[in-house]
Amino acid sequence: MPWFKKDKKALIETTKDTTVRVPEGLWVKCPSCSQIIYNKDLQSNVHVCGKCAHHFRMTADERLRSLFDGPWEEYDSDLMSTDPLVFTDTKPYRDRLASSIKATGRRDAVVTARGLLDGILVQIAAMEYGFIGGSMGVVVGEKITRAIERALAERSAVIIVSCSGGARMMEGALSLMQMAKVSAALARLDRARLPYISVLTDPTTGGVTASFAMLGDLNIAEPKALIGFAGPRVIEQTIRQKLPDGFQRSEFLVEHGMLDVVVDRRELKATIARALRFMRADDQK
Ligand SMILES: [Zn+2]
Repeated sequence: MPWFKKDKKALIETTKDTTVRVPEGLWVKCPSCSQIIYNKDLQSNVHVCGKCAHHFRMTADERLRSLFDGPWEEYDSDLMSTDPLVFTDTKPYRDRLASSIKATGRRDAVVTARGLLDGILVQIAAMEYGFIGGSMGVVVGEKITRAIERALAERSAVIIVSCSGGARMMEGALSLMQMAKVSAALARLDRARLPYISVLTDPTTGGVTASFAMLGDLNIAEPKALIGFAGPRVIEQTIRQKLPDGFQRSEFLVEHGMLDVVVDRRELKATIARALRFMRADDQK
């Protein structure tokens, strides 16, 4: 491949990245209303545009900070994929893992932690979109399952914040098995009468939607989040029908009974706390 082609591709990738994620500069332009926002203001406003309420994507760390009262205990941060299939597409999976680890400072696409949410003990799993599109491989499945098992052992609630493109294709069928594994662990949590709240953020698609993201006792979505299983083009080709406007967005899905409620991120923590108290999660001992 000639050098300039390669360079052009790299350039496109960086541009794409800065439009989707919050750049590290002092000022950020809102992709929805074009307002120029001071980065510190955005951070103190849980990454929501003060003018048009556009919800910027958050890292797993920022998510945990927005939900926990104070410091939290993180678990299994050293678990990482062994590349069981020795998979290669345009580049080896091993290299993709290495560059994602470098970019996010994380070993895989989920952070699991334990702490207090409005004084209530909870286990939270927050997915990291910056790590191979928040895709679910063996490590994501294992870490979430362990978080649920810790909740079972100490009788606490589980909250999973999804932000994912779905199963990780580089781990093939092994990543699909995680759907069954996490779902089975959630079934045990259900039998133990412990609450599970699912928070779906932009985007939540594929195998994550088809398993734990839709299994909450309460399924909460952030405004205008893309939530679905297959993409709209695939569905249109299969059913040979034009899809309606706003299809696969949170508000449409609530209207059609797929989700329980759309909650603004600035109200999310208070809403979760209220729901947990309603489900007696503060009174499990
Ligand atoms: Zn805006």
